[in-house]
This record gives sequence, structure tokens and C-alpha cells, in this order.
Amino acid sequence: MASSLSDPEDSAAKEPIRSGEQYVESLRGRDMKVYLFGELVDEPVDHPMIRPSINAVAETYDLAVRNPELATAISPLTGERVNRFLHIAGSPEDLVRQNKMQRRLGQLTGTCFQRCVGMDALNSLHSVTFEIDAAGDSEYHGRFLEFVRMVQSRGFVIGGAMTDVKGDRGKAPHEQDDPDMFVRVVRRTEDGVYVSGAKAHQTGCINSHWLLIMPTMRLGPEDRDYAIVGAIPADARGITYVYGRQSCDTRSMEEGDIDAGNAGFAGQEAMILLDEVFIPNEYIFMDGEYDFAAMLVERFTCYHRRSYVCKSGVGDVLIGAAATIADYNGVDRASHIRDKLVEMTHLNETIYSTGIASSYQASEMKSGVYQNDDMIANVCKHHVTKMPYEIGRLAQDLAGGLMVTAPSQKELDHPEIGELIRKYLKGRKEIATEDRLRILRLIENMTLGRNAVGYLTESMHGAGSPQAQRIQIGRQMQLEFKKHLAKNLAGIAPDSAEEISAEISDYMARVIGID
Ligand SMILES: Cc1cc2nc3c(=O)[nH]c(=O)nc-3n(C[C@H](O)[C@H](O)[C@H](O)COP(=O)(O)OP(=O)(O)OC[C@H]3O[C@@H](n4cnc5c(N)ncnc54)[C@H](O)[C@@H]3O)c2cc1C
Ligand code: SF4
Repeated sequence: MASSLSDPEDSAAKEPIRSGEQYVESLRGRDMKVYLFGELVDEPVDHPMIRPSINAVAETYDLAVRNPELATAISPLTGERVNRFLHIAGSPEDLVRQNKMQRRLGQLTGTCFQRCVGMDALNSLHSVTFEIDAAGDSEYHGRFLEFVRMVQSRGFVIGGAMTDVKGDRGKAPHEQDDPDMFVRVVRRTEDGVYVSGAKAHQTGCINSHWLLIMPTMRLGPEDRDYAIVGAIPADARGITYVYGRQSCDTRSMEEGDIDAGNAGFAGQEAMILLDEVFIPNEYIFMDGEYDFAAMLVERFTCYHRRSYVCKSGVGDVLIGAAATIADYNGVDRASHIRDKLVEMTHLNETIYSTGIASSYQASEMKSGVYQNDDMIANVCKHHVTKMPYEIGRLAQDLAGGLMVTAPSQKELDHPEIGELIRKYLKGRKEIATEDRLRILRLIENMTLGRNAVGYLTESMHGAGSPQAQRIQIGRQMQLEFKKHLAKNLAGIAPDSAEEISAEISDYMARVIGID
């Protein structure tokens, strides 16, 4: 494979990546084919539009250096302290700490810091590879653990590539007119497999060192070639990236740092085109076991739907921005302003509470990894499809219209017009007009601009569109048990407490504490 990352001798010689700076350097000089604005990018690290997304990932390293309790863990696989994004959860506390780290990183970056998809993929593959092996004679789990050891000891970023382009949503992979609508094995050799197809909306993929390719939906016997899970170096031969545009993204390429709103940090999504990309046997963790695809998707989305606690950290920034603009405008003591800030906080903490509850109510899987509660994870993500929009609406209410009608930084800095802009766009006299404009641009960035991708639309569709959560919630709502409770109290079908308790299972058993 044509990649420095997959060369074991090269890997052995290198120290783990620890700081943000080392991470940024680790991305340089890779021969990646990245299209942006119809051209190949020479060096993504130095591209002004891409760099803020790299900075957001770099922060995951720097937080680990500053606060190891929060953002690292001792790995039982290596015996070493590793970045928490690479750690396999060995207890509910590990899952809770993931959430706390995610909230903190949302606060520090105000955007998507991109590493949770890989973290959740690693944790879900731990139990799924174990259970595939237990059902047959495969050796996926051992290979997978070797892979985890390797990425932990090098401190790599892992991208989780699940979503296929999917073509006709009403058809299974094998039913599509074009068989490439889902990633599949196109060729096999003794040494491994070649895969082709495309993955859409891939968070942080160009900023990753390795990609984990996974199926996106339940598969049947005729979809066997689509049941492939494997690890691929992000710079492997045969991969082309097509950068996703974000609203107002070219502001990062302009002079000045005010109009960007958040000049330091941004998210990243790109399309990954795979043209006969080779995966050697040692990096294949599922090949043909179509009946385990649904298990993998469900376990991954279960982790990932409570990872959206990240949005409560981003929400903290937006609430802070809304409170600041009210202060700058001289209305911070008005009762309706305070009430709106209370409402924003209530919504934001609702997201956090459900995410963290899902992590606390975790169960140990057969492989030893801990899996968070599926019902509450789905409730958390379903809140996330709505509440950031309402928080964003309230932030825009408090901001006033200037957040979308303000002139550019060039006018503010202009020798003639600049003074008039500073005079007429002033709020409270103690506050510099520039600061007022900066905070308005941040609110614009988070609710309409570049980071609205992460705060709003990613909240809607990432880890599955709202209906996907409603299906999961519906499956677990245990209506017969609840009907029984009601009928019992209404005197329709009175039963003893013991008889009703006997029906407690699944989600309700986790709530009440019966295993
Ligand atoms: C910002 C962002 C980041 C993301 N990051 C990642 C990532 O890192 N890795 C990754 O793997 N994925 C990622 N995703 C993908 C995400 O999981 C998908 O967007 C999501 O699963 C929805 O798929 P879709 O976008 O193709 O929408 P569609 O599937 O086209 O859905 C559009 C609408 O159609 C409905 N629909 C779809 N299929 C059916 C059906 N069969 N029957 C009835 N209704 C249907 C949906 O409910 C929805 O309302 C990301 C998405 C976004 C927006
Ligand atoms: S959307 Fe949130 S959970 Fe997903 S990768 Fe970005 S920061 Fe992590």
C-alpha cells in the first residue's frame, strides 16, 4: 500500500503525536488527492480555508496535554496514557468522561472537532468483531485489537466512514442500478480485498491519519460484498477527496479576522471517492458477515447519538455570545432578555443531561467494552435535531438585525468611512464598535455561516436523520408493559406487583436496575 502510515517499520520509529503542533506537522507532505474549487490542493495544512478545521482537531491534542484526566486514559492494551479519542471504554465512567471532554472541546472551538466518529467506531467495532468471531471461525477481534494498539501508540486521528451515497433510498445496495452507490468489495486476492464506491459527508476525513470504512445499513445475503469493514490509511492509493463547501467558507481566505466570525476554528466534511483501494487482511474487520451489519450500525449510532453532547459545549459559546451582545446593546437587564437566556440554557442542559445519562446507564458487552444506553442516546440525539435551532433562533433574536446587515471589516478599517462606521454602529459607550461587530459575526458564524454546518445541519442529520431516532425510540418504548401498568391501576386487569415486575425488561430493566 502506498502510504507512510501503513509501513510498520516507519511506524515503529516514530514517537506518538502528543501536541497540536506535532499533529499539524504529522499531516504535512502526504500525497493526498484533494479537490477544492475545481483544483487539486497542494498542501491542505497550508490552505486558509482548510486550516481552521485542522486547528479544531489540534485542540483535541492540546486539551489532552493541558488536562490529561479529562482527555486521556490509561489503555489496558498498551499500558500507556493515550488520547481519550482512541481509548476503549472499560467502564460507564469512561463514557461519561468522553461526554465531558466533548462538551469542553465544543466550548473551546465553537465547532465540530471531528474525532468522535472514529472514537465511536472503535468502541462499536470492539464488541461487534468479538461477536462475529464467537459466531464463526473468523479472527477479526484479534486483528482489530492490534490495530487499536497501533493507533493508540502513534496517537493517530481516525475518521469513521459509514455513510454511503446511497442512490435510490428505497432500494438495498444490490438492487441499485449502479452497484457503486454503496462501498463494496470489487476484487479479492489472498492478501486482501479491493474496495470501490463513495462515502458522503465524511467529517474530518482529510485531517485523519486512518479511515474506518463501515457499512451504513442493515444488509441481506445478496449484499454480501457490501458487508466490508476495514481500516485504510487516509493517504492510501486510489482515494480522492472532494471538499464540501460550507456557507461563508471563503471568508477564511479574506484579509482580516472579523468577518469570519470564528477565524480560528471550523469543521470539515468531504466526499471520499474510492477507486479499487486495497485493504490487506490484517486491517479487515468484517468481510461478508452481512447479518452483523445492522448490529454495527446500531451500536455505532448508539455511541454517536450521545456524542452529540458536543453541541452543548458549542451551545455554551452561543449563549455566551447572545448574553454579550445584549450587554453591549445595553439591554442585558431587561426581563425578557434574561428569560430568553434562561430558555437557551434550559434547552442546552437538556441535551447534555440526556447524553450524560445515556453514558451513566451503560452496560458491559461480551467483549468487555461498555455500551451506553440506546434509548436515552436516541432521545439525546432527537433533542439535538431541534434544540440548537431554537437556541440559534433566540440568539438571533437577541443579536438584532445588524448580524446580517453589518458592513465588512474593510469598511471598518477604511480611512474615510471607518470613522463613521464606528460612530453609527456603536452600542453602549464603553464598548468598542469593533467588539460589538465581532460578537455579531460570531453569532452569524454559528447560526448562518461556517459553523452553522456543525451546530445546526449536522445536528439534524449527523448520526442519522430524526426519523432514525424515532424508529429506535419506538422499538424500545415497551408499550405493552406501560398499558399493563395503566390497566392495573384502572382496575381493568389487576395484577400483583410481582406479576408486573416480571414484565420489566430491556430499557425499563436498565432504568430500574434489574439485569
Ligand atoms: C455535517 C455532517 C457530518 C457528517 N459526518 C459523518 C461522518 O463523519 N461519517 C459518516 O459516516 N456520516 C456522516 N454524516 C452522514 C449522516 O449520518 C447522514 O447525513 C445521515 O445518515 C442522513 O443521510 P443522508 O444525508 O444521505 O440523507 P438522506 O438519507 O437522503 O435523508 C433525507 C431524508 O430522507 C429520509 N429518508 C432517507 N431514506 C429513507 C427511506 N428509506 N425511507 C423513508 N425515508 C427516508 C430521511 O429520514 C430524511 O428525512 C454526516 C452528515 C452531516 C450533515
Ligand atoms: S458533530 Fe460532535 S460528536 Fe460528531 S464529530 Fe463533530 S464534535 Fe464530535
